[in-house]
Amino acid sequence: HLAVSLRGVTKTYDNGVMALGPFDLTVRKGEFISLLGPSGCGKSTVLRLIAELSAPSSGIVRVAHHEGVVQPGHGIGFVFQEPTLMPWTSVRENVRLPLKLAGVPKAEARGRADAALASVGLADFADAFPRELSGGMKMRVSLARALVTDPDILLMDEPFAALDEITRFRLNNDLLALWRSLGKTVIFVTHSVFESVYLSQRVVVMTARPGRIQADIRIETVEPRG
Ligand code: ADP
Ligand code: ADP
Repeated sequence: HLAVSLRGVTKTYDNGVMALGPFDLTVRKGEFISLLGPSGCGKSTVLRLIAELSAPSSGIVRVAHHEGVVQPGHGIGFVFQEPTLMPWTSVRENVRLPLKLAGVPKAEARGRADAALASVGLADFADAFPRELSGGMKMRVSLARALVTDPDILLMDEPFAALDEITRFRLNNDLLALWRSLGKTVIFVTHSVFESVYLSQRVVVMTARPGRIQADIRIETVEPRG
């Protein structure tokens, strides 16, 4: 079963920049793939197309949503390099936001926000404010906010690039543990060959702009996964 399929997709922006394609990619449900490629090759564009934040210039983008997901982009969690937390409110309220926007009752939403925070190791920080947190912790909050709606697909755009190496490695391990326990499809954009091979089951390497697929490599792991 496929989570995502892009067929003959191209993207040319209004300014004439041909960012992508033609580009073909299929991602199976539950798969963890990395997208690797030079700056400006269209990696973020691929994520935005999958999230339906942007429409392709040609070709077909298909995303399998679980039953009950009606609005475009729901069923997808997005994590960016910048955590973009609201500074004026608590960590819990930041994580609750997507549920609030979806009209989930407050008590239930707070409970789910706290559970999401616990899943990223921040159970004790629900009442803290973003300014009190380190960069790695802010990233964990951002991850909790992406997971709180229980999306099928998690899109991550160079999420750990701004973090120091040790924090980044801890987050890599925690993300892997989360992926194993939650069974979500993850599409992870990174510049790091190490990170792509360490985290994912498949590394998709893109050419320079306009981005096409240069290599699609299955990573054999010593330990069984999934
Ligand atoms: P990557 O994530 O691989 O760095 P992007 O998908 O962000 O690449 O961008 C691909 C190309 O498209 C780049 O040349 C970028 O400058 C251009 N681009 C991205 N977004 C827009 C936009 N909204 N309008 C015009 N050009 C854009
Ligand atoms: P804020 O975080 O800004 O306080 P809330 O989500 O608490 O926003 O509430 C927004 C509005 O919706 C408030 O008027 C609140 O009383 C109302 N509200 C929130 N949750 C419920 C609920 N479960 N039942 C009824 N009204 C609610």
